[in-house]
Parts: sequence; structure tokens; C-alpha cells
Amino acid sequence: MILILKGGVTDEQVDHVIERVEAMGLKAHLSRGTFRTIVGIIGDESKIVVESVRSIPGVAQVVPVLPPYKLASREAHPESSVIDVGGVKIGGGHIGMIAGPCSVEEEDRMHRIAEQVAKAGANIFRGGAYKPRTSPYAFQGLGEAGLKRLREVGDAHAMPVVTEVTDPRLVELVAEYADMLQVGARNMQNFALLNEVGASKRPVLLKRGMSATVTDLLMCAEYILSKGNPNVVLCERGVKGFDPATRNLFDVAAVPLVQQLSHLPIIVDPSHATGKPELIPACAMAGLAAGADGVHVEVHDCPEVAKSDGPQALLPEQYAELASQLKSLATLLGKTVSPLPEKTA
Ligand code: PEP
Ligand code: MN
Repeated sequence: MILILKGGVTDEQVDHVIERVEAMGLKAHLSRGTFRTIVGIIGDESKIVVESVRSIPGVAQVVPVLPPYKLASREAHPESSVIDVGGVKIGGGHIGMIAGPCSVEEEDRMHRIAEQVAKAGANIFRGGAYKPRTSPYAFQGLGEAGLKRLREVGDAHAMPVVTEVTDPRLVELVAEYADMLQVGARNMQNFALLNEVGASKRPVLLKRGMSATVTDLLMCAEYILSKGNPNVVLCERGVKGFDPATRNLFDVAAVPLVQQLSHLPIIVDPSHATGKPELIPACAMAGLAAGADGVHVEVHDCPEVAKSDGPQALLPEQYAELASQLKSLATLLGKTVSPLPEKTA
């Protein structure tokens, strides 16, 4: 960490800054220039409380050298992490293809959609049993019955399943049924929920909040990692933009940026990012081309009766066409779409 001192700082203030640094068990390296005095702090940065250091008289600016997300950073872990989701690998050249309806719906429909997306090349089936809706009057999900249905459908088609958990009190229950726990955009900074999924051993799909910076996203991943769960996959799903022409603003640059900063895999969700089926294939391909470790797409066989997010769903045949293009692109990039795990039942 580097402390830039104020212009006109007195000798007494400089001595005091050094005393404070040494009192924290760290070494201070003083560098006096013509216009500026700088103190380099040498030692374990985690011992430093930035706010306290910034309050020392004479300190103008505190510049951390290491990122505040220690465990999530690539410095801490230069190799890209590969996360195993019920036998399907994501990261390090393995592409996750998550597909399924927004909500868990009728049993026969779930089977139909699962069969079609699996045939197309999807390797993880999705569906929300607990839905975070803007309106309390909108469909809230089928709850535990939905979890049970998702599990049964996943098993019948040999697909691992991912579903959202919206409440820390539900983590244990959702983890009983799901191979992967989704923390949605609206809950990205629900720290009680992050701590709880961190205590679970299930892989976590952490979606970027709609107003969250990349640093915010990585700090939230840090919560989960620091609780002992290393299995985190990040997801870029669009941030709030100014133009209502698309549901959100797809931040494709976040993908290579996160990969520079962190070893964690990052996938893209062009469904929530655009909200428009006609824009999803192009954005899915752009995400993969930008280096994403997977693509998450909502698929429904009759969007007009969907319980949620129908207007943004791809039809199964549209998904099949996209999946085939994604597979070709993955091959071109020297990556592979992870196969489905062997059927055990
Ligand atoms: C979802 O996956 O259906 C969902 C609600 O996503 P997000 O949290 O990204 O809005
Ligand atoms: Mn949705």
C-alpha cells in the first residue's frame, strides 16, 4: 500500500504517519520528492484498515497495491479455476451451457424442454422455484414442489440442475435438490445469503447486480470464498443502462476484465441482458468470443404461457441453432462444451 501525503505536510506529521504504520507491525519506506512525500508500506496489507490510515493527519491518498478481493484475485491463484457442477466442468476451456425456462413449470413441459435442450447440447438445466419478482402479486415460484420437480426432471435427462436461492433460510433446502445455487442479480449483495451459500459446499452461480461494478461482483465472490466455498462461477447478465430498447446493457467487456482480475470462471446471460429473443444469439456468440466460460439462456416451448420472462425466451429450435453455433465457436477457440455426465440411474 502506498500513502501519498499532502503537499506542505510537516516533519512532525510525517514522523507520526511512520509511527502509526510501525505500530501496525509494518515497515514504512519514506520517499521525499520536491512536491510530494510518499510512504510505502511493506508487509501484510490485510493488517491495514484503509479508513484508519486515510484519517491520519497529513495523508492525502491511500493507494492499495493488491486488490481487496484476495481469494478471488488471479494474483492469489494464477491458474484458471475449473468448477465441477454435478459432473459438468465450467472454466479452463470447459464451456458450461445452462438452459431452461425462467421458472419451474408443469411437469410434462419441464421434461419436454429438458429433453430438447439436452439434445441441443445444453449441459445444465435451469428453472427457478423461488422467483424474485418486482411485484408481490406476480408468480413467486412453486417453492419446494418446484425444487423437487426440477431435480426429477434433471435426473431423468442426466442433467445437473441450477436454481435460484433467494433467502439465507432456504440455502440448506435448495442445496438438497440442486447441483448449483444461483444467487440472482437482486441478491448479489445480500451478505447474509452470500455467507450462507459460502458455508454450503454446492457450487454457486453468482450473477452481477444490475448496478454493481466489477469490483463489487468480485467482492461478493470473496464473501463466498472466504466462508470456505471455492466453487464460484460468475455471471454477466447486463447492468442498468439509460436506453429502454434493451432490458439491460450487456457489458461484454466485463468478461475479459474479470478474467484478468480473477481466476473464477465467468459466463454470460444474454437472456436477461437483452430481454429480446432476436438479440440473444448475437450476444451469446459475442460473450463466448470475448472469452466467457459458458452461456446461460432461457428456453420455453410456448413463451406466451410462460409463468415468467416469456417475452425473452428462445424456442427450443432457436436454442438448438444457437447451441450448434456456440459449439463451432468453442472449437475454433480451442475450448470444448462439457459433455453430460454419464447416466447413473
Ligand atoms: C433468472 O435467472 O431468472 C433471474 C431472475 O436472473 P437475474 O437475477 O439475472 O435477473
Ligand atoms: Mn428469468
